Amino acid sequence: MSALTLPWGLYVHIPFCQARCTYCDFNTITGMGESDHVRYVEALVREWSREEIPGGPMVSIFFGGGTPSLVHPQLLAQVIQAVGERVYVPPDAEITVETNPGTVTDAKLGILREAGVNRLSIGAQARQNSHLVALNRIHDVAAIDDTVRMAREAGFTNISLDAIYGLPGQTLAEWQETVEGLLALRPQHLSLYALIVEPGTPLKQQLDRGAIRLPHDDVTAEMADWAAQRLTDGGLMPYEISNYAIPGYESRHNRLYWQLEPYLALGAGAHAYVEGRRWWNVRGVRRYMEMVEQERDPTDSEEQLSREEEMREYLWLGLRQRRGVDRDEFRARFGHDPVLLFQAVLAALRDQDLLTVSPAAIQLTRRGWDVANVVARALVDAEPAELPS
Ligand code: SF4
Repeated sequence: MSALTLPWGLYVHIPFCQARCTYCDFNTITGMGESDHVRYVEALVREWSREEIPGGPMVSIFFGGGTPSLVHPQLLAQVIQAVGERVYVPPDAEITVETNPGTVTDAKLGILREAGVNRLSIGAQARQNSHLVALNRIHDVAAIDDTVRMAREAGFTNISLDAIYGLPGQTLAEWQETVEGLLALRPQHLSLYALIVEPGTPLKQQLDRGAIRLPHDDVTAEMADWAAQRLTDGGLMPYEISNYAIPGYESRHNRLYWQLEPYLALGAGAHAYVEGRRWWNVRGVRRYMEMVEQERDPTDSEEQLSREEEMREYLWLGLRQRRGVDRDEFRARFGHDPVLLFQAVLAALRDQDLLTVSPAAIQLTRRGWDVANVVARALVDAEPAELPS
């Protein structure tokens, strides 16, 4: 399949947040009001009007942030409408809005449904108010439950919940309570992320001055293992390292990233990828708006992956998925069997019991799943064999 026929999606970055969570290093901004939201969305629509559209079918639109649910849903509807004026958005396209508990009402959710949004990704993060306060989340546990209930009542049948493990002071019992509490809400999809302490965040400062302590690595690993087993027993199958879904509810948009399929991106700091070219916009929200308003290209920078880099990236991103790398799909995309191209490194990883190679696919083993970063590093450094074209 070439980029002309590959499915593609659109990422729309909404950078506004009510408050900054202690662990967050995303491109967000607080303290902006409704007139800024309106101005920003006008810039998004204007940027969209100049985008070069890929040739294949559109399969997803993803509003990420920031907190997309903070802006008036009519503004998100305007973006969806502008998209539909330039491309065919099939009825089964996945349209997701990242949502924070405490930022939606029945009426807002109703407008999103009307606009075609069919998936909500709700940032729950924990089910202990003490942890939510410590992370500077704007909501409590009751707001998580209210948001899911309102979403169901508004007609949403595809709901994803996010949670973080390895929080400061978090015990295994608390994590189990979080997972059980989220499962009880009967989501179609769950994303469970290990806490990462990013430089420059308040969390990092708290850690550096000894104000907080993280759980031991063994405890964090146990949290991940326990959740994987519990969710599988509960019918949510692991399909990627951090993601679980009832079969049929895997995130189509995330799959674009893991399969190196094309995605366009709108908004401050947003990253796009088409056929080996990756480019991203300026991060500053005001600067982004000004540039678009002045009819200037808001692209900050870009890189072109070589064919080898693209193959390596495809391989390690593919291995993050439970299905692994389909050898036929790789061959169709790059013209060679990945097992012949990367024979040496794949054999070494297989000898360490980190992956398996079958005639159909290359897949991580249970052990490989636990140390996926080690596998990724080995693949990123691997030289492909020279094969006749
Ligand atoms: S709501 Fe999300 S994007 Fe906003 S500060 Fe918190 S983690 Fe970051």
